[in-house]
Amino acid sequence: MANKLRDALQAGEFVVSVEIIPGRGANEPGQHKEFEEAQAIWATERVHAVSITDNPSGNPALLADAFGIDFYEAGITPLVHTTCKDRSRNQFQAQFYSLQRAGVENLLVMSGDYQATGWMGRGRPVFDLDPIQVLQMIGEMNEGLVYQARGGEHREEPASFFAGSVVNPFKYTEGETITQYLKVEKKIFAGAQFIISQLGYDSRKTAELVTYLSQRGYKTPLIANIFLLTPGAARMMRANAIPGCYISDELMATLEKEAKAEDKGRAARYVRAAKMIAIARGQGYAGVHIGGFGITVDAFNHILDMAKDLQERWEDWADEISYSKTGGFFLYDREGAEAPRTELVRTRKLMSGYGLSRFFHRLVLSRDKGFYGVLKTVMDRRERKKGPNRHHGLEHLGKTVLYGCMDCGDCGLEAAIYTCPMTQCPKCQRNGPCGGSVDGWCEVYPDERYCIHFKAYHRLKKYNELHKLDSFITPPNNWEFYETSGWSNYTHERDNAAHRMPLPPPGQRV
Ligand code: SF4
Ligand code: SF4
Repeated sequence: MANKLRDALQAGEFVVSVEIIPGRGANEPGQHKEFEEAQAIWATERVHAVSITDNPSGNPALLADAFGIDFYEAGITPLVHTTCKDRSRNQFQAQFYSLQRAGVENLLVMSGDYQATGWMGRGRPVFDLDPIQVLQMIGEMNEGLVYQARGGEHREEPASFFAGSVVNPFKYTEGETITQYLKVEKKIFAGAQFIISQLGYDSRKTAELVTYLSQRGYKTPLIANIFLLTPGAARMMRANAIPGCYISDELMATLEKEAKAEDKGRAARYVRAAKMIAIARGQGYAGVHIGGFGITVDAFNHILDMAKDLQERWEDWADEISYSKTGGFFLYDREGAEAPRTELVRTRKLMSGYGLSRFFHRLVLSRDKGFYGVLKTVMDRRERKKGPNRHHGLEHLGKTVLYGCMDCGDCGLEAAIYTCPMTQCPKCQRNGPCGGSVDGWCEVYPDERYCIHFKAYHRLKKYNELHKLDSFITPPNNWEFYETSGWSNYTHERDNAAHRMPLPPPGQRV
């Protein structure tokens, strides 16, 4: 069956995908209704993929794969979302084998919302891989994954996945904005073939994303997220129940006012969505991804028809749908020139312990400098005497006191600028922030803990070393090293530091 999404993006057509949420249960009436509505939308021939969410908001739901396979069998091109929160790397691979076998090719790779509810309490977050590493795995599967087994090296049949990922441009601090954009570059470098933006209502930010990527030479298609926003959903976003979405006071007041109409604001919602589609097309997006609870075929047709009529005046709508955060950071000023980057965050909470960690790293852990040779000799001798190095009490104690170490043994402290990605980032993100941070704070602990990548940005900014955020991709944690000495694994060049993928300089990555 033709892959309408891939074919249209590759042909440079403006694509439309429509999002459905499978929800809880296997055979609920609501699920049948969603399925039928998606079939009706597909029959309009105005849509290139039906996009299926994966346990959104961290609650259990029907696997996106189930709807994805059913859609495929019904002749509909599916886009299956797949998130890192509930899957180990082996489970990802198993999922991809199943989808490949069924013929499903389109994947949308994300970190996913942090676990919220679950049977008998909150489930254990997995986050074994981050989206960049999942994209790398998919790339290898497309080449024919090579693995070692009895009898030597084996290569699997190549897959034909068409995988994309997401970015959140709706960040209003300098630290979050820059680290989001650096991460999306890594995703593209890792193989993302299209990028869908987070939902948001600020046309200056959607323009910023396009400008940033095109200035750096990327041609990867960008798809704008158009969400039919109700006051109820907006309130949930403001309460962080749907993380990573910014809803300004002004937009909230507008929605409340619209909700007083006889149709409870439905018409206004559709007009806003149509205007946003016009803006996306005008700004150079390659398509739109339309979502919202219970979208019907009539609403879908109405919105697309209106968008056509409104297209010519897209710049007017861009001025109107510009619900920015007051005083928020933008990469470019209104004339399009790069804005100065003056944000300074040097609080004790952010900087604490970093000076000491830097000093120790330079003294002992910088290869071929300082006391590195002494450390290596000690580690060599200890491994020779005691075998697999589990005798590392002092190292573990120090790391526990300073960073809350859980003894993963594949230490990512240096790459994460001396925060522990395993214990201080609830999603274990080693290559850049998830989309959920709020004003520099972690999605899971707002106003309590900084996002580790926001911390890294400001720590490096102080020392003029921001290039360190953008020089390599860290491989996944190797659990073979669990409860072994990180220093020993480092000095023997077995750990992640020895297997990083260097990034070419910006501008030379495409
Ligand atoms: S990255 Fe691993 S070894 Fe390093 S501090 Fe964190 S848990 Fe400990
Ligand atoms: S520390 Fe940052 S990347 Fe990690 S979960 Fe929190 S907001 Fe996301």
